[in-house]
Amino acid sequence: AKTKGTAQITFFDESLEAIARQRFDIEQELRRAIKADELRIYLQPQVHANGLTVGAEALIRWQHPSRGLLPPGTFIPIAEESDLIVEIGEWVLTKICQMLARSEIACCPIRISVNISPRHFRQPNFVEWIKQVLCNIGVDPARLTLEITEGMVIDNLSEVVTKMTELTALGIHFSMDDFGTGYSSLAYLKRLPLHELKIDKTFVQDAPSDPNDAALVETILAVASHLHLKVVAEGGETHEQADFLNARGDVIHQGYLYGLPVPMQTWLDDWKLRGLN
Ligand code: C2E
Ligand code: CA
Ligand code: CA
Ligand code: CA
Repeated sequence: AKTKGTAQITFFDESLEAIARQRFDIEQELRRAIKADELRIYLQPQVHANGLTVGAEALIRWQHPSRGLLPPGTFIPIAEESDLIVEIGEWVLTKICQMLARSEIACCPIRISVNISPRHFRQPNFVEWIKQVLCNIGVDPARLTLEITEGMVIDNLSEVVTKMTELTALGIHFSMDDFGTGYSSLAYLKRLPLHELKIDKTFVQDAPSDPNDAALVETILAVASHLHLKVVAEGGETHEQADFLNARGDVIHQGYLYGLPVPMQTWLDDWKLRGLN
């Protein structure tokens, strides 16, 4: 068996070790990390053009003992290849429900968005599990938005619609993440009980300078308006980008210009200081 030291040397080394071995190492490390409570939730505000904070997105990080704070791109894709992602997804949802029950924000009208991986959503007991957690912790489902991606919908549209409908009936909202980057079709959009589209940051960032991205953003805004969907624009960093969006639609901003992702406790402390918005 590998010693811990060896595992750390090969960890994330892309050139020397076989990729399969590396994945295995990261998977083992992640299992340990979950038990050792090394995962963290950061929150990034979602701010309406009028300045009101309407919610936040939960973004996971891994506070690694020797490597520091690792972004989700370094471990979520590997977790998504096994049931590890279910464990992580359930952990995030539980933490967010516990947070929503806390006095600092218990009565504030904001929603928290949680990213749901396809494999997690496909679990046969996904709906029941969520209902149980909300009920046990005593959280209003209307405080929760689930972010799904276009790829999840392709193979099993009717099953996805069934689950979404059941959760929507409770008050949970659904957001289509990274909209425009996958195999989206307008036909899906019509059949899915969605409340929100998220414009991916690549489009938002280039829209002021690239006519193609500008056209795409305008199209997304038009579609959203026709289908009565909220729009969250991801990744706005400049006033120019924000102005571009605000001139063309009713947009909620989630980007560094409006706020960085911060640790959950920091976010709660800020919220308390500011009072009710
Ligand atoms: P995403 O869902 O598209 O999340 C938005 C990403 O954009 C986040 O990266 C966020 O920090 C980043 N971002 C927001 N505003 C700006 C900006 O103004 N400029 C730039 N450059 N970036 C901005 P992050 O936190 O690294 O997350 C990356 C991806 O990891 C997420 O993309 C999501 O797909 C996944 N992820 C994060 N947390 C979770 C989780 O709890 N569960 C699952 N399944 N996936 C997660
Ligand atoms: Ca997201
Ligand atoms: Ca995403
Ligand atoms: Ca994105």
